[in-house]
Amino acid sequence: MPSARHILIVNSRSVRQPVFVVGAPHSGADLIGRALKASPGFHVTMGQPSVLRVVYAFARRPSMHQGRTQAAATVIRDAFAQGWQVTPHSCLQCTRECRAAAGLAADAVGPCVDLRGLERFGDASPDLIYCAEALTYAFPDARIVQVIRDGRDVVTSMLADPVVMSWFRPSFVNLDTEFPNPFFGIEDEDDREQWPKLSPAARCVLRWRWSVRLAAKLHQSLPADQLKTIRYEDLLSKPDEALAELSRFTGTTVSAAEIRDVARTARHRGRSRRPPGPPLDKEDSAQIGKLAGEELRRLGYSLVS
Ligand SMILES: [Zn+2]
Repeated sequence: MPSARHILIVNSRSVRQPVFVVGAPHSGADLIGRALKASPGFHVTMGQPSVLRVVYAFARRPSMHQGRTQAAATVIRDAFAQGWQVTPHSCLQCTRECRAAAGLAADAVGPCVDLRGLERFGDASPDLIYCAEALTYAFPDARIVQVIRDGRDVVTSMLADPVVMSWFRPSFVNLDTEFPNPFFGIEDEDDREQWPKLSPAARCVLRWRWSVRLAAKLHQSLPADQLKTIRYEDLLSKPDEALAELSRFTGTTVSAAEIRDVARTARHRGRSRRPPGPPLDKEDSAQIGKLAGEELRRLGYSLVS
């Protein structure tokens, strides 16, 4: 159980109820992150190098921090103490998405938030999900938003993203030294045994499946006022309801323009659910059903297409 700890101070503000948006890749964490970032007084970072360094170290080498939650929590707090710091060029090293969400030009240096009125902090680097436990230990009052999306659409989007796919390069894969391996979604011997023969789509769905299973575990360990699940499909089909829920949960009025815009565009295209990219072939669909059918069904995604 988390013990009482000191409050993190950033730019002479106490960090209270920081909001973290997590999920499998391409599940919509960026969309919620942008909406939060546009909310008054909210400083949301996305892809700060000091944070990502820690996230990937933890994600790829869970054995390094297992059983050392307190030490891991300290590392995470230090990473955010640095990442949330607002300076004249604090957004310079963030992702392009972060700068764009702040309304900065691609080559502008920042800051991406006005110090005046700054009250809340958050981060929407979706891979934070790999250190969710240490995160809630580091920030016992954290508010975690988990975004879920139909695993098949997630897989289609992942396949079209060279950055996500580059993690599957043989030089990155460390299944021999890290097992079980949350980053690749390898939980048991069966997974590990079949992994070399799996198609790229099947490898992607294992990562999605792991994030869904982890969320189920988090739901058991965190009270409802600390973990909120938002469905990507609801964000696009009923943005106002989803935004109201999100605002209640985070205790701020979440800016609506961005999400309404994306929802409207999706509606006009008449394909609010289908991501760009070629549809999955029969073989991939069958394998996805085999590996993650239970999770898809549990989340209410129909397997009959
Ligand atoms: Zn930034």
